[in-house]
Amino acid sequence: MMEFATSIHCIDGRIQQPLIEFLITTFNIRYIDSITEPAPCKWMSDESDPFSRESILRRVNTSIRAHNTKLLFVSAHYDCAANPVPEAVQFLELNTAATVLGRIYPDMKIVKLWLDEHFSVLVV
Ligand SMILES: [Zn+2]
Repeated sequence: MMEFATSIHCIDGRIQQPLIEFLITTFNIRYIDSITEPAPCKWMSDESDPFSRESILRRVNTSIRAHNTKLLFVSAHYDCAANPVPEAVQFLELNTAATVLGRIYPDMKIVKLWLDEHFSVLVV
C-alpha cells in the first residue's frame, strides 16, 4: 500500500467523496493530499491567472516535500460551475494541465481523471 498521493481537483462538494474513495480503493493508497481550487485544470493550462497556478504549485510542493508523494492525480468534472465550457474544452485543458505538470514534476507519475454526470471517476 502506498502511504500518500497528491490530487489536484475542483472545490465542488459533489466530487470530494467519490474521488477520494476511488483513489484510495483503486490505487491502494492510505491518504490523499487534496489540493482544491475552482477549475484547477483551467489555471494549469493557461497563463490567465498566474496567482492561482502558483498557489496550486506551492501546495503540491508542500505535499511532495512533506509526504514524499510520487503519484499526482489531476481531474476535471461534469457541470463545473467555475468552468462553464463544453466538455471537449475541459478535456483539452485536462490534457494540457497534465502535460504542464509532467514538465514541472518529471519524477511524478501523473494520472488524469474525469468525473462524469453520475460523479463516477474515470481514468482518462
Ligand atoms: Zn468544478
